[in-house]
Amino acid sequence: MVDVGFESLGLSRELLSAVKARGYTDPTPIQSAAVPAILSGRDVLACAQTGSGKTAAFGLPLLERIRTTPRERPRRLLALVLVPTRELAAQVAEELRQLTQGFTRSIAIHAVFGGVSVNPQRMAMRGGADVVVATPGRLLDLVERGALRLQGVTTLVLDEADRLLDLGFAEELQRILERLPARRQSLLFSATFPPKVRSLADRLLTSPLKLDVPRVDIETPSIEQRAIAVDGHARSDLLRHLLRAHAWPSVLVFVATKRATEHLAEQLCRAGIATAPLHGELSQTSRSEALARFKASEIRVLVATDLAARGIHVEELSAVVNYDLPRSANDYLHRIGRTGRAGNVGSSVSFVRAEDESHFGLIEKRHALSLAREQIQGFERTEAEAPRAIHVGDSSGGIKGRRKSKKDKLREAAARAANGPPDPTKTDRGT
Ligand code: ADP
Ligand code: MG
Repeated sequence: MVDVGFESLGLSRELLSAVKARGYTDPTPIQSAAVPAILSGRDVLACAQTGSGKTAAFGLPLLERIRTTPRERPRRLLALVLVPTRELAAQVAEELRQLTQGFTRSIAIHAVFGGVSVNPQRMAMRGGADVVVATPGRLLDLVERGALRLQGVTTLVLDEADRLLDLGFAEELQRILERLPARRQSLLFSATFPPKVRSLADRLLTSPLKLDVPRVDIETPSIEQRAIAVDGHARSDLLRHLLRAHAWPSVLVFVATKRATEHLAEQLCRAGIATAPLHGELSQTSRSEALARFKASEIRVLVATDLAARGIHVEELSAVVNYDLPRSANDYLHRIGRTGRAGNVGSSVSFVRAEDESHFGLIEKRHALSLAREQIQGFERTEAEAPRAIHVGDSSGGIKGRRKSKKDKLREAAARAANGPPDPTKTDRGT
């Protein structure tokens, strides 16, 4: 029997069996709170911790609505889920498909993302789609080629909404919003909503229900957080030492640059540790392959840029290592949130060089943390701490601000060219 918890949310038998088949017994707090509200048609802004089942929190009610919407031929696109990365598009589409298992009515769920040729995605949608999970750029491409119409969309979801609302996506998001019906349900989900983004979000939503689900159990946190003081040049040796010392079956290592990703992955491979790099300049085939092999435990270590910081779910990911520190306090949360998911326990280890002390101090302060600096024998930090610089944190949760990718810069340039930065919230809805 499905736990009474799920049964009280207003979902149909078909979805309850899908949930059961998926192995979920109890709804997570965000699911309990969001599902009934979304079923009732309300706009929702949901802030809930990483790994708390946000995908099903919007996915279940969304699929419920589609299931009961009179069918048209060809299929009319009813729900659009936007995500910031290609990997996340594939993952969310797959999770939604899992939730439709056993449905009597087939629901066509398509993932749409760049980096792969557009034609197969176009062909796949010739019979129409009920749900599209997309990255903004490729979605616009398909819409502009006439392969997809957005006029019938009744529900828009922004997963990792704060990322989609930042300047890097502003222009594309604006173009998508212009093509969507003004009357629609909008759902915004993320683990972080900096104040600046909240006010942008407010203008996208109509009398939304705002859900802030705090950490479930502060007493027994699911992520053990450690900070190790180490010299910059010793980090690679220290990482190999930790990989030997701990029986972590799978480890996600974050570094700051694409080059560092390649370099470190190569070093680990040479040391006999099955490792792959993941960053935005690899071909999409290599990106997908690296992540798939990591998810399948064929490789032990994935060395990635912040590309992998958002939304990606790897079953039993045992540890996250911040080889280079994240630039913002929000990124810290998203990175370590790749582990300790769905009730599992995970470790996160941050390497803190002397020159990182003041920056890491701010990250700790933002999250009300105070981590003891461990010294590992043989790898003790010898560099002196730099005099404390004064950083001014901005309200976007950035301390240094997110590092702009090449794509972000191109997008911003395009945005400036088109009469200054557009306002992603300027829609004609509600008029
Ligand atoms: P988030 O988006 O909040 O970071 P995800 O939606 O990716 O989290 O879910 C994390 C994991 O938890 C996934 O493997 C998902 O299948 C699982 N999960 C979701 N809901 C439940 C539930 N009610 N019970 C158990 N596991 C769940
Ligand atoms: Mg998610």
